[in-house]
Amino acid sequence: MDDCLFCKIINGDIPSDTLYEDDDVFAFRDINPQAPVHFLVIPKKHISGPAAVAAEDEKLIGKMMRVGAEVARREGIGDGFRLVYNNGADAGQVVFHIHMHILGGRDLTWPPG
Ligand code: AMP
Ligand code: ZN
Repeated sequence: MDDCLFCKIINGDIPSDTLYEDDDVFAFRDINPQAPVHFLVIPKKHISGPAAVAAEDEKLIGKMMRVGAEVARREGIGDGFRLVYNNGADAGQVVFHIHMHILGGRDLTWPPG
């Protein structure tokens, strides 16, 4: 998608600190980390957010979790990390290309706020 920040990162038009890439999935460090380890896992397919996931995307979304856990292990937080998907502006979503936040490396309180 032309005017999507994360599509531009996938295409290499905007640089990122890339942690993982294959044909389907891309992972990179969040530019404004909220924990010692904070990265994002995104599908290469442009999907605007969790509520826009279609039946045909189910396998892709599952792969994002598997890859995210693998990168988390590599980053040293394999035993304790949090996954966050924000859906919609009211929930704090600012980039409308679905992304899974993975955070770890500090105590993570609950509820998240
Ligand atoms: P959300 O609020 O769930 O839409 O999260 C968007 C995330 O993207 C935020 O945590 C931002 O810090 C992050 N972000 C925005 N621009 C970039 C960028 N160029 N590279 C890496 N992360 C970014
Ligand atoms: Zn996109």
